[in-house]
Amino acid sequence: MIFIIILLPITVFFFIPPDHNLLYPEFNSFDITDRNGITLRHVLSKDYRTSSWKGIKEIPPGIIIATIVREDKRFFLHKGVDPIAMARAIYGNIKAHKIKSGGSTITMQVAKIVLNKRGRNLLTKILEIIYALKLEMHLNKAEILEIYLNRTPYGNQTYGIEAASQFYYGKPVEHLSLSEACVLSIIPKSPSILNPLRNKELIKKERDKILNKLLRMGLIDTLTYDCAINESIEFNEKNFIFNAPHFVDFILSQNIDKNCSKITSTIDINLQKNLEKMLFNLIKNLKKYNVNQGAIIVLDNKTGEILAMVGSRDYFDEDGGQVNGCLAPRQPGSSLKPFLYILALSNGIPMSYLMNDTITEFKLSDGTIFAPRNFGDKYHRLVRAREALGSSFNVPAVHILNIVGVEKFYNFLNTLHLSTIRKQPNFYGLSLSLGSAEVKLLELANAYRAIANKGVWTDYKFIRDSRKKIGERVFSEEVAYIITDVLSDNSSRLKAFGDDSPLNLPFPCAVKTGTTKNFKDNWCVGFTEKYTVGVWVGNFDGSPMNGVSGISGAAPLFRDIMIELHRREYPGKFERPKSLIQIKICAKTGLIPGKNCSVIEELFVPGTEPKETCNYCNVGEVRYEPWRIVPDCMDKSAKNIYILHPQDGDIFKLDPQIPYRNQAIAFKVYIDSTIESFSIKLNGNTLCKNTTTFLWQPKLGKYELEVIGNSRTGQKSEKITFTVF
Ligand SMILES: [Zn+2]
Repeated sequence: MIFIIILLPITVFFFIPPDHNLLYPEFNSFDITDRNGITLRHVLSKDYRTSSWKGIKEIPPGIIIATIVREDKRFFLHKGVDPIAMARAIYGNIKAHKIKSGGSTITMQVAKIVLNKRGRNLLTKILEIIYALKLEMHLNKAEILEIYLNRTPYGNQTYGIEAASQFYYGKPVEHLSLSEACVLSIIPKSPSILNPLRNKELIKKERDKILNKLLRMGLIDTLTYDCAINESIEFNEKNFIFNAPHFVDFILSQNIDKNCSKITSTIDINLQKNLEKMLFNLIKNLKKYNVNQGAIIVLDNKTGEILAMVGSRDYFDEDGGQVNGCLAPRQPGSSLKPFLYILALSNGIPMSYLMNDTITEFKLSDGTIFAPRNFGDKYHRLVRAREALGSSFNVPAVHILNIVGVEKFYNFLNTLHLSTIRKQPNFYGLSLSLGSAEVKLLELANAYRAIANKGVWTDYKFIRDSRKKIGERVFSEEVAYIITDVLSDNSSRLKAFGDDSPLNLPFPCAVKTGTTKNFKDNWCVGFTEKYTVGVWVGNFDGSPMNGVSGISGAAPLFRDIMIELHRREYPGKFERPKSLIQIKICAKTGLIPGKNCSVIEELFVPGTEPKETCNYCNVGEVRYEPWRIVPDCMDKSAKNIYILHPQDGDIFKLDPQIPYRNQAIAFKVYIDSTIESFSIKLNGNTLCKNTTTFLWQPKLGKYELEVIGNSRTGQKSEKITFTVF
């Protein structure tokens, strides 16, 4: 009885014929074109389908013989499984301590293609064997061979012998010579290693081996042999349409509808080819600095369309050429900083905010010390936020993150859809301000596009259609403009890069560079009114470059790309929101200028402009406390505590278009050395103790902010009121 229960399903399985649709899938091929209809690639097949099915009688005997001799010598003798080949494979694998050969017959390979199971393990192998036995019960040898030849992969995204013949030789399979037939029969064993386009030497060696075998076995005569062995290995290279390969691979990897005859992509093939050449030449020149790879992305600001995507120096390069550098996660270094300052601006910290750029130790919550260093170990003492961002100083950036908070910055980066920043905020800590979290060039460039689009993030597009992507406002138009202004302001870069840097373009262009620790990655990302461009150079294996900075590596290429993009027409000025305030400030302190101050102009989101007049330039002396200028001119005998922000009577207006969590108000106080301990209170409730800066999540209402300090001579306090509406 038990015997019947087990035997019955097995019998039924073997007697039901295999599914016809699985064996002979419908044929479908399609073209991927550039934005103007020029073919990038004729995708001959997908999901193991072939471009056009060839009956076994149409396929020349040379192909059939070469394939059988190469893949499965005893094909006509076995019943789906070849015990001799299998035993030999098992013995070989045990001897080598790894799986080298599977001893698969042609029938088993058909079973593998039809079952389409991922992963190589014992279970899939057993399934393939069972299915192979079933195939042999229902199909004859010619039918099995026909399916194999029409569906097996022949490398470079081609499946089936006809597709391969068309791709490599530009002619139908019937017209192949014996030598050409042998070459094609070599590929299926290992399509990536035995790629005819890349490894002609190896292909010739393998072809000669097969021809020798055929001669030895008496399957061809010496005259045919001589003719074939002397034929040179040539491919119809003109026929390969293989444009923008990384981009096409990227499209094919996406969830797109492939049941069509044509997919019109967003790329501009002329631009693409120009940029491919430019990158190739740059890397050639940087080779002496151990720079071997690079990547470029170009986006249309308005539509989000990818206009060019260059993934590596050379797609056909054996050393990782097919890796797409636009999609590989790498550390962005300083190129992430603009988003930190965007968050600071959104939290009421203006570009006039004065910081002390000097070696500083930041105490972390776990008690450890973080001591960031500037590029080249140069420090500049007094810097305003504008200069700190423009010249990419590290210490002030860490200070800013310390004020706004790591978690908040982490959440903000998530709203920009930087999908590779996945670890918990604590994992990155304050080093997040220096770009320690890995990002993809494509996504980073698209985040910059949100600045170009005045604070609205939309997804990028790779297929040309009328569908509009939905925008998400992630910061205000005013903040976007101020950051754009800083990134396009040559004078703010002066302290680090000098006057004549490649970042000075002949038209308005906002740009930021980044170089990671030990010179592993070098970035340059930016935008004009029309286009956003991202450039990365480095090495895929992460080996360091020799002293290449943003200015010598990615930046000159960025500059050339921008000039190329605007060859016909220079871009216009960035549009400034009317609501922004532009006022004169003291160049040294960022305060309202006094009599002896040198004056510059700065932009402010209303409500964040300085309220205090600079008195320091009069006195001629400025004393520093960490991160805050101490007004020497103030009469300290009168007061020991100052509330620096907000000022008494301040009114804050919340922007309904921005998440409230991104609009915190910074409470800043100054405490002199006579105060031993102090606390900040809001409407009588203690917010924090012994901290001079506190970020408060605003709610509508009237507030009284009080700082109470204890000194030897008794309690001191300072009180102000402000309103949020
Ligand atoms: Zn001044």
